[in-house]
Amino acid sequence: MLLIKATHGLIRTDAPASVLLISVFQMQQRLRVTEIFYSLQGEAKTVGLPTVFVRLTGCPLRCQYCDTEYAFKGGQWWTLSDILNKVATYTPRYVTVTGGEPLAQKPCLDLLTQLCDADYEVSLETSGAIDVAEVDQRVSKVLDIKTPGSREADKNRLDNLDYLTSHDQIKFVICDRTDYEWASELLTTRQLANKCEILFSPSHHELQAQTLADWILTDHLPVRLQIQLHKYLWGDVPGK
Ligand code: SF4
Repeated sequence: MLLIKATHGLIRTDAPASVLLISVFQMQQRLRVTEIFYSLQGEAKTVGLPTVFVRLTGCPLRCQYCDTEYAFKGGQWWTLSDILNKVATYTPRYVTVTGGEPLAQKPCLDLLTQLCDADYEVSLETSGAIDVAEVDQRVSKVLDIKTPGSREADKNRLDNLDYLTSHDQIKFVICDRTDYEWASELLTTRQLANKCEILFSPSHHELQAQTLADWILTDHLPVRLQIQLHKYLWGDVPGK
C-alpha cells in the first residue's frame, strides 16, 4: 500500500510504484497550447454539441486555405495535468483536441489517453500527415485527406487509412471541381465509405456549399456535406 500526495490530500493506492511513477511522469509532460475554450462543435459527427476544444500549437503543413494560422506559433506550455484540470472546469461530455496539427507534439498521445480515462468522449482533428497508429482506440479520429487545392496533398500519409474504424471520420476540404473529382476518385478506388463516415466540406471562401451539395446529389455520393457551423454563427474568429 502506498500513500501519494494529490491536489486534495493523500490518496491510498494498491498500484505498483512503477505504474504510479509512469503515471506521474505522463501528467507532468508538457504541451504547447494555443487555446482551450468551450463552444459548439462546428464540424463532424457531433456538430452542434457543446464541446471543449484543446488547440495545440504548431503545424508542419501550410494549407493555402488555413483558418488557424494563429496556432502556428506562440502558445503557452501546459502540463497534461493542468490541461485536464482546465477541461474539467467546463464539465463537458465532448472534448476535441485540435490544432494546428496536434500530433506534431508527441505528448498529445498521452493527453488523448488521459482524456479518455477521464470518461470524456474524445475526438482528434488531424491533418492526415502524421502517423495515427498509436492514437488511443477510444478516440474518434477526424482525419483530413488533403486535396490538390490545399497545395499540401503530397503530405498525405494514406497508410493512416489502415488505422481507421467505423467510429472515425475522413474529411476532404473541397476547393473546386478538380478537388471534387479527385476526392470522388479516391472515394471509389479506396472504398472509403465502407470504412467510416466521409465528410465533404467546401473551402469557406472558395466554393459555395450549394454548388458542392448539387454535385454530391447529382453523383449520388455516399458522403455527408458539412459546413463549418461556427463560422455561420460567429464568423471566422479564434476561440469559437
Ligand atoms: S493542416 Fe490544418 S492547421 Fe495545418 S495548415 Fe492545414 S488547415 Fe492549417
